[in-house]
Amino acid sequence: STTNDSLMARRQAAVAGGVGQIHPVFTARAENATVWDVEGREFIDFAGGIAVLNTGHLHPKVKAVVAAQLEDFSHTCFMVLGYESYIQVCEKLNQLVPGDFAKKTALFTSGSEAVENAVKVARAYTKRAGVIAFTSGYHGRTMAALALTGKVAPYSKGMGLMSANVFRAEFPCALHGVSDDDAMASIERIFKNDAEPSDIAAIILEPVQGEGGFYAASPDFMQRLRALCDREGIMLIADEVQTGAGRTGTFFAMEQMGVSADITTFAKSIAGGFPLSGITGKAEVMDAIGPGGLGGTYGGNPLACAAALAVLEVFEEEKLLERANAIGERIKSALNTMQVEHQQIADVRGLGAMIAIELMEEGKPAPQYCAQILAEARDRGLILLSCGTYGNVLRILVPLTVPDEQLAAGLGILKSCFDAVLK
Ligand code: PMP
Repeated sequence: STTNDSLMARRQAAVAGGVGQIHPVFTARAENATVWDVEGREFIDFAGGIAVLNTGHLHPKVKAVVAAQLEDFSHTCFMVLGYESYIQVCEKLNQLVPGDFAKKTALFTSGSEAVENAVKVARAYTKRAGVIAFTSGYHGRTMAALALTGKVAPYSKGMGLMSANVFRAEFPCALHGVSDDDAMASIERIFKNDAEPSDIAAIILEPVQGEGGFYAASPDFMQRLRALCDREGIMLIADEVQTGAGRTGTFFAMEQMGVSADITTFAKSIAGGFPLSGITGKAEVMDAIGPGGLGGTYGGNPLACAAALAVLEVFEEEKLLERANAIGERIKSALNTMQVEHQQIADVRGLGAMIAIELMEEGKPAPQYCAQILAEARDRGLILLSCGTYGNVLRILVPLTVPDEQLAAGLGILKSCFDAVLK
């Protein structure tokens, strides 16, 4: 019979080495916050396919609308023959994305594509080519997105220099000694040393860095960025691919920042496990690109649009924003208790249900424990992820639909791993 080991061996022989895999486990089936592997083992899923499953694996409502859509049609290409669900998703996102102005939306397939297109729109609207991105920011693996991603290894290692016209500012992170003032000063330094503001089309950032370590920008910092962008005619792009779709306790994290972006990217949990991404922005900005300049064969695929509309209904019906805040509080309070017993748990943080645990030892990042805890947790039936510039952050992206008992069981496993690994 098929085993994880045998599949791992075939994977090694057949799949390109650049495609990583965090856990040597192969999936047979999944439902809400539970995954079963090919050997019949059951796991609690705190990874959610990297922030894609805020509504859980195969939410019954999502499954039903996708099955129904499959009875009708699966593809026409929206650029050839339209369909209403694409428009409905755009109408919904125009409402949901923060910003007190007329908005328009375009749909794509992956988060990286959303980022690429956000930059294209900003360039077309401003007639400028420069972009400011941040240290440890993550924006994807396609070429322009990769140039914005602020971490060389493993993302662009061995691939040569990325495209020019990207300037790197420091992301504010008090825990690692970068204040909001330092971060603002790093932008002024770019203007002084590298490029005039009038050559900068956009400043792009994640309101809470995802892959970079779950560090939230402060509302004050975001307001200062907004003021700077307004002063210089620069587009502010909020990359909400990981923070969006309710993870942080508001539908978009920018709702907690007191200002809005000109362009917002979204993907991941928006369609509950189906590939859908998009950008929503000021109507006049979005319309800076003429017909044919935006799109893609699969962008806004009908199955994914149907799924997204169901996800939005599920958020309302099951009050998942409240739920995000409630489970976030529960997770943080459990972790704070564990922190008392383990000094290596240097920081427990998160907006809503986007929770991180940062491990340090003697004032230095301690990534060695992360790898051990990930493996230990898996052995005990819990799928976890790490992140962070230093690889020393454990992150929790559990479905918001997780039953209370299962959440408690997962946290119990996490505690037993801390007890086993952190002396
Ligand atoms: N932006 C952010 C903030 C992300 O977290 C990710 C994915 N981790 C991306 C962009 C890229 O998305 P995708 O992998 O779907 O291309």
